[in-house]
Amino acid sequence: MLTYGIRTDFQANLFEGSMHLLALADELRELKTICKCGRKATMNLRTDEKGRVIKEGEQTEIGGNDRYEVLCRKHFMELAF
Ligand SMILES: [Zn+2]
Repeated sequence: MLTYGIRTDFQANLFEGSMHLLALADELRELKTICKCGRKATMNLRTDEKGRVIKEGEQTEIGGNDRYEVLCRKHFMELAF
């Protein structure tokens, strides 16, 4: 079986489904994305419609693909906490 998923949410918490997939997977393949600084992006920053950082809210938000920015851990921590 082959599945895909995002590891963590906009607050750097594991998604419950991803936690179970990580626990059960025989093999992991990481699809790499690059932060604006060039480092590997591993974190998902949520923003509002004006680009302001969102720090609270539901874990999932339907239809908000344009409201996320993938960042390296350093830039995520600077903006999200
Ligand atoms: Zn960065």
